[in-house]
Amino acid sequence: MDLHAKTLTELAAGLDSGEYSSVELTQSLLERIAAHDEKLNAFVTVTSDNALAAAERADQARAAGEGGVLNGLPIVHKDIFCTRGVKTTCGSRMLDNFVSPYDATIVERLAAAGAVVLGKANMDEFAMGSSNETSFFGPVRNPWDLDRSPGGSSGGSAAAVAARLAPAATATDTGGSIRQPAALTGTVGIKPTYGRVSRYGMIAFASSLDQAGVITRSAEDAARLLGVMAGFDERDSTCLNEPVPDYVAELGQSIEGLKIGLVRQHFDEGLDADCSVRIKEAIAVLESLGATVVEVDMPNIDLSVPTYYVVAPAECSSNLSRFDGVRFGHRADDPEDLLDLYCRSRGEGFGDEVKRRIMTGTYVLSAGYYDAYYLKAQQVRHLIADDFKNAFEEVDVIAGPTAPTPAFKLGDKVDDPITMYLNDIYTIGANLGGFPGMSIPCGFVDGLPVGLHLVGHHFDESTLLRCAHAYQQVTDFHTACPEDFA
Ligand code: GLN
Repeated sequence: MDLHAKTLTELAAGLDSGEYSSVELTQSLLERIAAHDEKLNAFVTVTSDNALAAAERADQARAAGEGGVLNGLPIVHKDIFCTRGVKTTCGSRMLDNFVSPYDATIVERLAAAGAVVLGKANMDEFAMGSSNETSFFGPVRNPWDLDRSPGGSSGGSAAAVAARLAPAATATDTGGSIRQPAALTGTVGIKPTYGRVSRYGMIAFASSLDQAGVITRSAEDAARLLGVMAGFDERDSTCLNEPVPDYVAELGQSIEGLKIGLVRQHFDEGLDADCSVRIKEAIAVLESLGATVVEVDMPNIDLSVPTYYVVAPAECSSNLSRFDGVRFGHRADDPEDLLDLYCRSRGEGFGDEVKRRIMTGTYVLSAGYYDAYYLKAQQVRHLIADDFKNAFEEVDVIAGPTAPTPAFKLGDKVDDPITMYLNDIYTIGANLGGFPGMSIPCGFVDGLPVGLHLVGHHFDESTLLRCAHAYQQVTDFHTACPEDFA
């Protein structure tokens, strides 16, 4: 079997048995990236030399009987995570030559566990987008159909994993940016509970919503990576000091008796009819494994998208004020005065979608509008979180669609922000309430992957992973590979 076809878990076994070395594995994936990424544009930076050096160190550690739980395993980082000595662009012209002086906590933890970083993945600019078309470095293409979007904002991470250029990638999710691209590319994506994983060194978009997670090809691989990334970090004041379970050990537990809730509002006219059939089939599989299914009502869930598009822009307008050409970011040439420097640096450095969000955010935070928009949105946010809390009194997991349609054509929605925003209609609620969410492949519509969305109670990633793993033991959608990348 070709190495690229193997999951992270399978690769770990091969490294352990000495079937191949990390250097051989890393080399073979770097060759695949060189051969295929021109079509996909999944990478902003490929770190070949660093990767080979890290692989060599991993092989030496293994020979000495040392090395962490990910020793020698290749991964990719979304280009939103600071990586010391390597460009960190966040998909923006604003940071297109920014070399971070330090590593994000998760970058540090994964490296300490022995992971080998192949490069940095393309993404929507500052993680704002659902199609990867807002990236300064151009759109990423979906390996299942190169004319289509892989979703966003973690489209590079998702496309790299789906096309077998890397077995796993880190990603971030503010409103759906891990789960929606996972759904559109037939990969597994998990956004943990808000506060589960450190955001130190992860460039901020909307601080009360942003969370780091992973995109992989199996639930088991996601469990392995999450176990390394999760846990308290004193450098992030929003990171909670909750014990991290052994996600891998808990995977094997049966889902007999698990209670699954279906949100009535998630199966209305907004959902593509064929996708709806795939989702219902997947839920039937979970039932056949011993889960029981009940309908739950979330009366406020339809307000998720408008609420998010007040809260997220407000927070982004504040977070992105640091990119002014003086403290951080692109600096315009030959400014006339300080104001001209600020205006032109920001005007040149940011793309249209980011500017739209900054303007919306500044507006909803301004005197006279704050109460009407921002405060109101925060109140509605509580009602939405309460809908989830009430549902979790009755059920262990909420299941439904991740995205309303399979992958759409590049260019199709780019001039229509509202339609684009609606792509996250099923995922945003989990961010507003801080709940963990996961997407797993559950079939195809016209040859394009469909994702099943699972949401769990705070800090209960384990149940999501267990549910996904049980499903993947009896189905093979997650092993399907796009034809051109087999
Ligand atoms: N697509 C949503 C947005 O554009 C969510 C992005 C994200 O989760 N980072 O804001």
